[in-house]
Amino acid sequence: MSTIPKNHRSGYINIIGKPNVGKSTLMNALVGDKMSIITSKPQTTRHRILGIVNDKESQIIFSDSPGIIDEPHYGMQSSMNKFAYSSFEDADVLIFVTDKYDDYDGDEKVVSALAGAKVPRLLVINKMDQTSEDEAQGVVDQWMDLVPFEQVHKISALEKTGTAAMLLAIKALIPEGPAYYPKDQITDKPERFFVSEIIRENILRQFKQEVPYSCEVVVDSFREEEKDGKPFIVMHADIYVSRKSQKAILIGKGGQAIKKLGISSRADLEEWFNAGIYLELNVRVKDNWRDDERWLRQFGY
Ligand code: GDP
Ligand code: MG
Repeated sequence: MSTIPKNHRSGYINIIGKPNVGKSTLMNALVGDKMSIITSKPQTTRHRILGIVNDKESQIIFSDSPGIIDEPHYGMQSSMNKFAYSSFEDADVLIFVTDKYDDYDGDEKVVSALAGAKVPRLLVINKMDQTSEDEAQGVVDQWMDLVPFEQVHKISALEKTGTAAMLLAIKALIPEGPAYYPKDQITDKPERFFVSEIIRENILRQFKQEVPYSCEVVVDSFREEEKDGKPFIVMHADIYVSRKSQKAILIGKGGQAIKKLGISSRADLEEWFNAGIYLELNVRVKDNWRDDERWLRQFGY
């Protein structure tokens, strides 16, 4: 027998906005867990990630889409845009995040998509910890001229101010319906996904410029064991790059760079999984994978 109470509510909430406005930070604040990997660099989040907030009366399913990128220059970005625009089609509520640093002009595709959306839209002015009330109101006025948002929320995702009120508002907006996921589940992503994101984050931290954006991490084994009575996970990951020169950078003189990457990644993985970790990393060259349809599919784009 189902124990779902009458009047149970459930819905999909899509968080959209340009890179760096704080979408991933907001989802972490709302879901209350280390859901997405956050760095200050744009395009960290390449895949849609679901974060799920459960209580007895409701299930709210957030998806954090990659930032909308204006002019896709190669295969990977145009595929990321496909994800971003699919956000408008399958949501019960749309959350559009912006901040005082964001520079939209009125005729962008996202504006018309938002203006034409058939579901409740929340305008979120983020980074209020760095923004005056006047500045925020300026941003609100500019946006309300373009899109008739149903609600406005001024928040700081980083300091978690205004986010609890947002959750309450969202709960009231989603339709009646059953839970889509088991109530103890907080994400739809498998463990391997987090491993590859954590390694990617460490690559972003350690290497400069275009090297990280040419990397894809594939976790090809993940084995849970026990060592001295404690959980221990053995994992192996391949880092794919598109050029030999990038492989040389990743490995470094005498293997120094890859060793450093392994140590910092392992520390983060141990914290994430709360377990001992054995991590083996390999660097492989796959010419121009970003423009190769087959490879993009294999990597899940
Ligand atoms: P996304 O690209 O939209 O997912 O943005 P992220 O969540 O990755 O955040 C981008 C940067 O903005 C990170 O350095 C965050 O720490 C920072 N950030 C996010 N929210 C806030 C906020 O409320 N206040 C401040 N000061 N910084 C924030
Ligand atoms: Mg993000």
